[in-house]
Amino acid sequence: MLEEFRDPVLVIAAHPDDIEAHCAGTVAGLVGEGKRVGYVLATSGNRGTSDPGMTAERLAELREAEQRAAAEVVGVSDVRFLRYDDGDLAFQMPRLRADLTRLIREYRPRTVITHDPYPGNGSHDSCSIYPDHTTLGLAAFQAAYLRAPGPLCELEQLREGLPLHKVEMLMLMMSGQPDVFVDIEETFELRMTALRQHATQGRDRPEVPAFFRAIAERLGERAACALAEGFRRLPPT
Ligand SMILES: [Zn+2]
Repeated sequence: MLEEFRDPVLVIAAHPDDIEAHCAGTVAGLVGEGKRVGYVLATSGNRGTSDPGMTAERLAELREAEQRAAAEVVGVSDVRFLRYDDGDLAFQMPRLRADLTRLIREYRPRTVITHDPYPGNGSHDSCSIYPDHTTLGLAAFQAAYLRAPGPLCELEQLREGLPLHKVEMLMLMMSGQPDVFVDIEETFELRMTALRQHATQGRDRPEVPAFFRAIAERLGERAACALAEGFRRLPPT
């Protein structure tokens, strides 16, 4: 199914570790095929700790370093951080939308992988409806299909000389209704190595790979392969 992810591919995620938890096996496959992949992290996860001795600034530094290391594991070197405060994306929509529009006009991806803004009623996955994830999914949708190709949108960017651009396909991760399944049997271990880089989030604990293997096996059952990642395909109108 990798041919559906047309080159270049931009992955837009809310927090460091979202990509490794949900789609880095697919990314490793795309990079292996020679496709260009870039990462955009809307936050640096600067509130993701239970340690009262930690500061937001220090945590952001640590998590950006973890994210860069994780990207390197799967061969991605283009990693950009927008540095919004963790947990606040829902209150930052206009600026977030403009920032994503700018990035899309600059990077010109044919495919964008991002969060599913509507992961599905009845989902028992509280992570999938975390407002940072759903907000970012909506903002990326609007930037990719409506703002970046819009001649009346973000005019200051157009005056700077940025060209209009329309993304060809959104691939939504963390969806309750995936319909694109990517076989990640060959890249699963690489994905786990990438995930392990997120030590501040406990992703280096020994039980973590089994948890993610079970999810990949369930998705694999629907794709007639051992291990898979799933996406909901959302074409433009
Ligand atoms: Zn997240």
